[in-house]
Amino acid sequence: MKALELNKKLNLRNDGKLEIIFIGSGTAFSKVLHNNNIIIIKGDKHILVDFGLSGPMGLKANTGLDLHDIETVLPTHSHSDHIGGLELLTLTNRYIGLAAGKPKLELIITKEYQNLLWDQSLRGGLAFNEINEKSEYLSFNDYYNVISPVQFQEKGYNRHSLKYGDINLEFFRTNHVPDSAKNSDEAFISYGLMIDDKVLFSGDTKFDLNLVKHYGKKAEIIFHDCSFKPNPVHASLEELKSLDSQYRDKMMLMHYSDDYEHYDVSDFKGLVKEGILYQFD
Ligand SMILES: [Zn+2]
Repeated sequence: MKALELNKKLNLRNDGKLEIIFIGSGTAFSKVLHNNNIIIIKGDKHILVDFGLSGPMGLKANTGLDLHDIETVLPTHSHSDHIGGLELLTLTNRYIGLAAGKPKLELIITKEYQNLLWDQSLRGGLAFNEINEKSEYLSFNDYYNVISPVQFQEKGYNRHSLKYGDINLEFFRTNHVPDSAKNSDEAFISYGLMIDDKVLFSGDTKFDLNLVKHYGKKAEIIFHDCSFKPNPVHASLEELKSLDSQYRDKMMLMHYSDDYEHYDVSDFKGLVKEGILYQFD
């Protein structure tokens, strides 16, 4: 993996190499770092994974891109640091993008999450802006071209896969919230991703040794959620330090707090950095 400084506006198309950039590496509470959201780029496709409250600022500051440049978005779960900017992105696409001849925003979302996201989070801000041609308030399909990953079973786990252009994604459920949930099936929907079979992106998750073992062995790089202090819904630094070096040596910590300079992360490959373009062969 190469880590490249970006000295111009991010190009959302490339020659076919997998590229990942963090438009933010912070937590939900960060005021300096932006929310931990990424863009995956490969060939002529890109996917914005999560767009939190500070996502619009992180996007501009770290890539030079504007909201109307984004064509595809994938929300992992409903916390505001992951979807707090999604309403704005969606409205920008409909009222600025479409008028400029752009297509509808592509939304990559599983069937099990789609209605939850709409009914519990987005509907209040998006439904009532217009009456559509069916004389109804706006719905999911008025705003988005929905792309649904395919569900499959693996060793009793419900997973999803998607080939989007040349980008291969595997979705796994994580055990993030509530604090009392004992496994990912009990937890509210939250996803992590295996990207192109080489990058493990943990999403938001408690420490989950089985998860790290299952995907981490074959991963070239592991981007892992990290709370520097003990945390009931995120993996802590101490917990991650308990991992075998075969995982820690390729683990870059993400979703960390603004006071990161006060913590020793020398047991890991490092901290991800906002605005750096990570390029894979
Ligand atoms: Zn979360």
